[in-house]
Amino acid sequence: MNLDWKSLIVLTNPPVNPRMAVIYPVEGDNIFMVGLLGIGKTYPPTDKAGFMEFAKQIGVVEVQEIIEKSKPVSSIFGYREIGSRKYLFDKMKKWPDNFIALGDSVCSFNPIYGRGITVVAMCAKILKSQLENNRKTNNPIEKGFDQSFQRKVAKANSFPWLIGTSEDLRWPRSEGTRPNPLTKIMQKYVNDVMLLGPGSEIATRSFFAMLHLLKSPLVLFHPSIILHILYKKLVKNIKKLIK
Ligand SMILES: Cc1cc2nc3c(=O)[nH]c(=O)nc-3n(C[C@H](O)[C@H](O)[C@H](O)COP(=O)(O)OP(=O)(O)OC[C@H]3O[C@@H](n4cnc5c(N)ncnc54)[C@H](O)[C@@H]3O)c2cc1C
Repeated sequence: MNLDWKSLIVLTNPPVNPRMAVIYPVEGDNIFMVGLLGIGKTYPPTDKAGFMEFAKQIGVVEVQEIIEKSKPVSSIFGYREIGSRKYLFDKMKKWPDNFIALGDSVCSFNPIYGRGITVVAMCAKILKSQLENNRKTNNPIEKGFDQSFQRKVAKANSFPWLIGTSEDLRWPRSEGTRPNPLTKIMQKYVNDVMLLGPGSEIATRSFFAMLHLLKSPLVLFHPSIILHILYKKLVKNIKKLIK
């Protein structure tokens, strides 16, 4: 199949469209992973007809076309879990000796944002460095090692948790404290960056670098991204005035 794109991502549009699609090559250029995702209880069905109907409801014809024209190499797999979950192990007054927890056992993120493995890897690096430091002091395991590690894990989880949950809170049915005005402004700005996506390499790269925790969110405030957003808004307003 000749395609003029490398990956096709249709994002949700809170609070209007809870459906999302991700299509990208997984082995060479001939095998693609097709993922249909829904927010809340908008579950993509795992039977072929239901899957196609969900793809249609995404409202982007290319999603439907590529599924229709392709030959499946596996059956459809589904995963149904809503929300994110975090245990405050770092706040526990009593903690068993020589016991640590990391990964999903501490904090499990809504998989729609795809960053659980990244955070586990970050925590594994923290553990390595803490063990190396401990070895230098010649103690087998120093007292408080585990609780100190749990605090570092909590810190590593905090930013991905914040960006994931504030995204989830855009949906009226999500439970939790509503975002404050500053968070709402940030959500709107991130939305504007995403909308630049297909036409702006720097916006796309910056957005994914932030999403996959490779760079700080400040990367989204590159002057050329800000100017591009302002330019788009100016053009939009001029068009409105002309009408
Ligand atoms: C649908 C989906 C898509 C995802 N997509 C992404 C993505 O694109 N990018 C990303 O970074 N993250 C993604 N994640 C998140 C990621 O998979 C998890 O964050 C990550 O796997 C957590 O690793 P873990 O080692 O903590 O737990 P797990 O990977 O769940 O490993 C725990 C292991 O312990 C075993 N186990 C459980 N109980 C016991 C027991 N009593 N005795 C012995 N063994 C036991 C389990 O069988 C399992 O093998 C996704 C998650 C889901 C569900």
